[in-house]
Amino acid sequence: MAKADTEKWKKINKNRETRPKVQEYTCWEELSPIPISLPIDGAIGITGDWRTFRPLIKKGCNKCGICWMFCPEGVIQKKEDGSFEIDYTYCKGCGICAKECPTKNIEMKREADIEK
Ligand code: SF4
Ligand code: SF4
Repeated sequence: MAKADTEKWKKINKNRETRPKVQEYTCWEELSPIPISLPIDGAIGITGDWRTFRPLIKKGCNKCGICWMFCPEGVIQKKEDGSFEIDYTYCKGCGICAKECPTKNIEMKREADIEK
């Protein structure tokens, strides 16, 4: 972790007394790291099995990371080139990523219409 990043997070996360009631961020990169649970093979198995619609990231993606931030399942991963990919083994097809994508570059396509 770069030192400059650590200092930036300290500045944003002020102590309880001085922290504003509403903390505003201008972009996701200002967020401090938060613990998340990564999807694993759980008691209910491969949860992508029963997905009706599949989110497809299209070419116009600007790598902003909003979809990654909003996915409730934590199944969108950042690749080395800064782009994002979806783990379809666990994606439930809820469509939140498509709804939140500011550039409308996630298409929800019916599974039955996807060529195998
Ligand atoms: S459809 Fe839902 S579960 Fe799948 S990647 Fe988008 S937000 Fe995550
Ligand atoms: S929210 Fe849309 S533009 Fe941003 S990284 Fe995801 S797919 Fe790309």
